[in-house]
Amino acid sequence: MPTRFLNEEQILQGAPRMGPEDRFRFRCDAALDCFTHCCRDVSIVLTPYDIIRMKRALGIDSSEFLEKYTISPFTAEQKFPIILLRMEGESRRCPFVGEKGCGIYAGRPWACRMYPLGVAAPQNPNPADHAFHFLVREDLCHGHDLGEGCTVREWLDAQGIEEYDMMGAPYRDLTLHSFWDGGQPLTPEQVGMFHMACYDPDRFRRFVFETRFLTLFEVDEARVEALRKDDLELFEFGVQWLRFSLFREKTMKLRGSVLEARQK
Ligand code: SF4
Ligand code: SF4
Repeated sequence: MPTRFLNEEQILQGAPRMGPEDRFRFRCDAALDCFTHCCRDVSIVLTPYDIIRMKRALGIDSSEFLEKYTISPFTAEQKFPIILLRMEGESRRCPFVGEKGCGIYAGRPWACRMYPLGVAAPQNPNPADHAFHFLVREDLCHGHDLGEGCTVREWLDAQGIEEYDMMGAPYRDLTLHSFWDGGQPLTPEQVGMFHMACYDPDRFRRFVFETRFLTLFEVDEARVEALRKDDLELFEFGVQWLRFSLFREKTMKLRGSVLEARQK
């Protein structure tokens, strides 16, 4: 069930820091009177890997998934676009919740896997002040202090979090890049590039294969073949392309003929 957002003050005041071997007790099942209450009126930010897993679970392409089930608010304060799961109706229910619980349980997003654990990564240079977990306690959730208990590490393993963290690393590095500290807003075209490469792999694939993209960049044949089928390969490639285009990093190589034409 979804991890809600807490600000730094709430975390440090109300929730002790937990390490991997710290234990907690929590039970979540249909016998509880709060069953599925957490799947409504909540903001769930989706990562690129969440989108890949969810569209696969639903058997649809990423463009259809984004259109049907998400919103992408973009305010003046935001540096890059984000994707939120679209809640439905007056009670703002998640579109995937049913009487038996989550309808896409195997493909549920990171935030839903983590709950009731939160994670915080202090943004300061002190090496001792590294990321920690904490328990999110909310009145609506009655699963706390029930069941046999487990360590933080056991919970994360059972929820498959390591895979999500590993697949999410390129996105994390992209969004934490020092480029964003410069304060220069993205142009509408760059916003579109970011949205497509990070969140809409099926559209990005069409862009790569159905435009002159591959005549501009050197990409070896094995990788081109992988990009045709593999969403994760495509996502990593998309991040490279964004780093090349936005940050001016040498993560892609223009073809010699393109460079010559540019010099002329
Ligand atoms: S994706 Fe599943 S677990 Fe997450 S809020 Fe929706 S129904 Fe609940
Ligand atoms: S125990 Fe908490 S996480 Fe589980 S269904 Fe109830 S409110 Fe949701």
